[in-house]
Amino acid sequence: MNFKMNKILERRLHVFLMVLAICSYGPIILAKEIPAAPPFKPWVKQLIKDAKDRRIKPAVISKALKGVKPITRVIELDRRQPEFTLTFSAYFNRAVSNHRISTGTAMLKQHAKLLKKITAKYGVQPRFLIAFWGLESNYGQYTGTFPVIGALVTLAHDRRRAKFFREQLLYALELMDLGHIPIGVKGSWAGAMGNHQFIPSTYKSYAVDFDNDGKRDLWKSLPDIFASAANYLSHAGWDGERTWGREVRVPNGFNFGLSGLDVQKSVLDWSKLGLLRANGQRLPQVDLKASLILPAGYQGPAFLVYKNYRTIMIWNRSQLYALAVGHLADRIVGLKTLTRQPPIDDLPLKRKDMKTIQFLLKRRGIDTGELDGIPGPKTRAAIRAYQKSVGLPPDGYPSKGLIKYLRTNLKN
Ligand code: CA
Repeated sequence: MNFKMNKILERRLHVFLMVLAICSYGPIILAKEIPAAPPFKPWVKQLIKDAKDRRIKPAVISKALKGVKPITRVIELDRRQPEFTLTFSAYFNRAVSNHRISTGTAMLKQHAKLLKKITAKYGVQPRFLIAFWGLESNYGQYTGTFPVIGALVTLAHDRRRAKFFREQLLYALELMDLGHIPIGVKGSWAGAMGNHQFIPSTYKSYAVDFDNDGKRDLWKSLPDIFASAANYLSHAGWDGERTWGREVRVPNGFNFGLSGLDVQKSVLDWSKLGLLRANGQRLPQVDLKASLILPAGYQGPAFLVYKNYRTIMIWNRSQLYALAVGHLADRIVGLKTLTRQPPIDDLPLKRKDMKTIQFLLKRRGIDTGELDGIPGPKTRAAIRAYQKSVGLPPDGYPSKGLIKYLRTNLKN
């Protein structure tokens, strides 16, 4: 594949990933349940009043809101429901592509001096700062094309998540008032900005002016960009002495009911249960809390994840994203690829297949929450409970194999 094609695909993936990231802000509400938005003109009038109450300069407000109106495309993107559930295999190889790994390695080398200074101050290892950068904007190549104010006005005026986005909009205006972000700045369709795609509240609280030019510039200043990400992670509880987790080997006959983020044991205890490093060697003998996760079910790769993995999930709630950050960070410093690949039937499930799983579990008296076709925590817990009750490995993983089992073993 040539470089240009690669770039186009990566750009598409970014839009897709941003949609996923944004999906985690709140519960998914069906379009038909959303009340109509209020008339726009009086709404803007009230917005201007609120912005003035926050002591934002009237000249900034009128310049930022000049000619603004709701953007249809933003609403379309907000309402879009993915047809397929995302699988580890579908996501991982694209998110951690060879191109992204080699660029990350080059970036780590190129910016080593700056990163060293930032690590000394905030305690986040350089490889992670580079990995977040790679995943969020493909190392600054894609920071979004929507006018931030237009996008935030659209989502604040719309009723689905009005309160959240109104706050974000007012923060964005404040940042413009302070001169940290230019009026007319571009970002994602949901108002995420700059090289690490900070939403305005994150920008306001965590962006830093590391090059001391008086501005917190997350587009052009690499010192500001890396230091802001490091500052955010440091506040979220990053442990600079530790890594994120590692791939492990699980022994035969292992109780997969111990997988999932709710179970935490020390690495020593996992070691006693027979878990090994992926290369077959003994785990580090440390008293560090860890959970075992199986992103493609018990037949796929297994990972022990530490505290920093949970911190990555504060940045973005998706477990697949957290694994991608961790693995990309490993790969750019030369660690090997996964030893175990996902099973060949780890194919994306259609929403209707997910609904079928939920329906078939519910018919057996197991509560899956809403029949919405989304494999959330409740659905995964329901799958695990069912697997346990029929003697299947309880990995909580929705797969084609599970549907087949549910359909053919109607008495179970
Ligand atoms: Ca600066």
